[in-house]
Amino acid sequence: MTPTTTANPLLQIQFQIPFDQIRADNVQPAVEELLQGARAELDRLTSDHGPRTFANTLQRLDQLTERLDYAMQIVRHLEAVATTPDLRAAYNAVQPKVSEFYSSLPLNEALWQAVLGYSRTEEARDLTGARKRFLEKTLDNFRRHGAELNAEGKKRIAEIDVELTKQTIRFSENVLDSTNQYEWVITDERQLAGLPESARAMARASAASKGLAEPSWRFTLQAPSYLAVLTYLDDEPMRRKLYEAFVHRATEDKYDNRPIMRSILELRREKARLLGYRDFADLVLEDRMAHAGDRARQFLEDLKNKTESTFRKENADLLAFSGKKELQPWDIAYYAEKERAALYDFDEEALRPYFPLESVVQGMFEIVRRLYGIAVLEKPDVPVWDPHVKYYEIRDVSRTPDGSRPGGDLVGAFYADWFPRESKRGGAWMDNLITGELHSDHQDPHLGLICGNLTPPGDDRPSLLTHREVQTIFHEFGHLLHHCLTRVELRGFAGVNVAWDFVELPSQIMENWTWERDALDLFARHYQTGAPIPPELLEKMRRARNFRAANAQMRQLGFGLVDLALHRDIAPGSDVDLLSFARDILQHFSPAKLPEDYAMIVSFTHLFASPVGYGAGYYSYKWAEVLDADAFTRFQEGGIFSREVGGRFRDGILSRGDSEDPAELYRNFMGRDPDPNALLERSGLLVRQ
Ligand SMILES: [Zn+2]
Repeated sequence: MTPTTTANPLLQIQFQIPFDQIRADNVQPAVEELLQGARAELDRLTSDHGPRTFANTLQRLDQLTERLDYAMQIVRHLEAVATTPDLRAAYNAVQPKVSEFYSSLPLNEALWQAVLGYSRTEEARDLTGARKRFLEKTLDNFRRHGAELNAEGKKRIAEIDVELTKQTIRFSENVLDSTNQYEWVITDERQLAGLPESARAMARASAASKGLAEPSWRFTLQAPSYLAVLTYLDDEPMRRKLYEAFVHRATEDKYDNRPIMRSILELRREKARLLGYRDFADLVLEDRMAHAGDRARQFLEDLKNKTESTFRKENADLLAFSGKKELQPWDIAYYAEKERAALYDFDEEALRPYFPLESVVQGMFEIVRRLYGIAVLEKPDVPVWDPHVKYYEIRDVSRTPDGSRPGGDLVGAFYADWFPRESKRGGAWMDNLITGELHSDHQDPHLGLICGNLTPPGDDRPSLLTHREVQTIFHEFGHLLHHCLTRVELRGFAGVNVAWDFVELPSQIMENWTWERDALDLFARHYQTGAPIPPELLEKMRRARNFRAANAQMRQLGFGLVDLALHRDIAPGSDVDLLSFARDILQHFSPAKLPEDYAMIVSFTHLFASPVGYGAGYYSYKWAEVLDADAFTRFQEGGIFSREVGGRFRDGILSRGDSEDPAELYRNFMGRDPDPNALLERSGLLVRQ
């Protein structure tokens, strides 16, 4: 029997999400009903006049929004991967109400009194472990959201949160729309000189998808297309044209993010001040590993000092190599690629045939089977939002004698959506859809997803990836494992719900395996002949790894420092031009002189596409790199497929979520605090004596 068509598919948590039935007009009625349900549940919680217990207070709070979270995760996800005008309108219509509800929770006086009341009970005083941490974090979280403010202050906080949600949604829509509105179509093949076949094929396919007459090639500002042109196209004026279009995104009338960015920064600052913090960085970093804006800045400045001299040397080398008087920003990737080819006789494109997507994915599954004792298997015929999306189940086989027979407990499942579409946002990401409950005798499975914008298949070949894209897959899968291997009692502590500067450890550590010969041998196979990467080619790839490592590091440090500066150094009411402010900082980290009207900052979705996001937290990428480089040394010592080290990482980090202080989890795994030298050493920026 098929379900009745009148049932709203967003109302019930279903492990097999009926993506084939969810329509834009389900969104509003479902969210209205779920909001009502959550409000009623909140009333029951606060009007319970019996003695306060963990179960009737904190546990109920932990579960209060479970159904609403589920529905909103799905809607938000569909808006990110399969948007339509109707869906976008429906999402925009409900989002402010939902955001208002979430931010009303810590401002709800009765709820605050209930939590505070519980905290004074004997039971609360005797709590230990994760439950104790949950109570402390809940109290802190209420305070950081304004629970102790007067009525007027609370009202203002609520208004700010709603406004921030609206503004950040517009910010991200403007970036998507201004990216999509640009195209460059050529019909003369001679203009493609320098461009590798993979990029030409992609441009041909893109032109065909738009019904353009043959022969034509269509280039866009989506990453695979844009980066290929900047790296390879001989035609300098065209590189420049595309570069300028890229760094001016979201500055045109209709999509202008400049006033939006200013308003987001002002709202964030006002909120921080109201809550008694110096600035937004201090507010959001309080419960992260860095704890305060100053410490994050010091961390970045310290790495900058250790990187700068190599950075200058790399730039001098590149200039000399190019034979030009001065390099422009649109020259850098182009000449760097040539320099790398000359120094290492290594062409990234030569690797593509060895990285067919399917083989990469299967090899990655084999690696985690060995390390963590889990089997990942595709399950067909599951409803998805696009025919290219695949669905996989993760089973725990760690208890079978040889670890090879799937069929153990289902611990999680996920969707993988790897190719670009116009209805999908750029970048790569992981998200969670369902957090399974931990029972005394078993763990319910978790559900999540991973998405990317990788090189799509061509007419006569499968998707063939760059090594960078291979790392992206490993990275997102690392986040996914953090979610799917969770075993914690409280939903709020599950998987990726950890401090932002800790959350990239499980993802970034995965990238290390893509550099190891024994791991590559499992999946890097020529798509036509099945041959492994020839040893000379692999050797070249590994030697070229740290080519311009100081530039790569400086770029990330620049983003981290501009983020902190925007959130710390702009005085209230200041009329400083934010584009030049950001440009002047980023200039110190750029190998070429940036254009006067350089506007990359207004398409920087990491910082401004959600109310918090990576705002004041971009430094976390480097912070986590320090952690991952250091932690990976344990695998190097114990063997990169070591079940023993893998087991300790799974039990000590991946399964623990936020149930313990991340600094403590890290110390338990490593036996000491993180050592930043491991990162410098891995990047070739430090030679140990
Ligand atoms: Zn990540």
